[in-house]
Amino acid sequence: MIKILTIVGARPQFIKAAAVSRVIRSQYAGRIDELLVHTGQHYDKNMSKVFFDELDIPHPRFNLEISGGSHGAMTGRMLEAIETVMLAEKPDWVLIYGDTNSTLAGALAAAKLHIPVAHVEAGLRSFNMRMPEEVNRILADRVSNRLFCPTETAVENLAREGVTAGVSLVGDVMYDVSLYYRDVARSRSDALARLGLEEGKYVLATCHRAENTDDPSRLREIGLALADLALNQPVVLPVHPRTAKILAEQGLTASMKDVTLVEPLPFLDMIRLEQSARVIVTDSGGVQKEAFFYDVPCVTMRDETEWVETVELGWNVLTGASREAIVAAVSAPVRPGSKGDDPYGDGAAASKIVESLSA
Ligand code: UDP
Repeated sequence: MIKILTIVGARPQFIKAAAVSRVIRSQYAGRIDELLVHTGQHYDKNMSKVFFDELDIPHPRFNLEISGGSHGAMTGRMLEAIETVMLAEKPDWVLIYGDTNSTLAGALAAAKLHIPVAHVEAGLRSFNMRMPEEVNRILADRVSNRLFCPTETAVENLAREGVTAGVSLVGDVMYDVSLYYRDVARSRSDALARLGLEEGKYVLATCHRAENTDDPSRLREIGLALADLALNQPVVLPVHPRTAKILAEQGLTASMKDVTLVEPLPFLDMIRLEQSARVIVTDSGGVQKEAFFYDVPCVTMRDETEWVETVELGWNVLTGASREAIVAAVSAPVRPGSKGDDPYGDGAAASKIVESLSA
């Protein structure tokens, strides 16, 4: 029996882990034992529990309940607690996802104990070292033994850094997830009716990247852009807890009175709203791709993106955090071209990952 210790902690990691865990349980029962460690980085009910319930993710075996504090403090506490679990469980593999502090802590703890590390979503780069995620990704990749890349670009990024051993192109587990839940969301979610929205007649927005939320001038431009857009069409913004706090502190919520601000949405409601939006405006990595998967034009409020294929194929435009540029891009969204040659794989990334770990 192969024992895999999976480290998750943040919303996008729950979603990605759902795809891989499903394959382990349905096709590798009795051959792979997966233990989930939830670091606690995201802990609100609507940022954590709701995803475990809705996406059928096994209950975490370990809940470390570590959240808040500076990046260093959070990562340090996680490192210590994860190491304790690893010493007790002695897994064959440590499986990490994406680019959060939980990813880095899992990678470092395992590497120091000489436990092999497998990184899902390896090789992504924004080439902006001021992003905490970029630091986490580069360091996690450096100590990983298996690097599961979602795109050809990711493989090339690693090759440029001299990393080729253990690298494989498997496709994007988020694509697997989008295919699996696309119709489930259509039948189960009543989000459109609940929010009084009509198919194709609203803008869906998200904003949570530190480069936007922690820079008052950028957040102001974004808030005002969404307010401008809301004069002409419904604009729905499920607000990430960090963004909610800063919007309130900066007194921006009042200027955004026409924007429909809602709590973070459960996954099925979120992808239901994505599927019928006229345009999606976001700074999220996952949401940029979901827009692409669901054939919805995307406007990305960042200066660069890791998901360059969406831009190259004409489905996504980068506006930075300029009020004028955001409003202009949403008002005349890109006219998407073809979807290319499956840039995010064939929807079987999770199977390829588990097969590799089981060998
Ligand atoms: N998401 C969600 N509810 C929301 C906002 C986002 O379920 O209110 C989902 C979204 O569909 C995507 C994932 O969360 O699958 C993206 O996570 P996030 O934007 O937090 O992180 P990133 O992808 O930028 O790392």
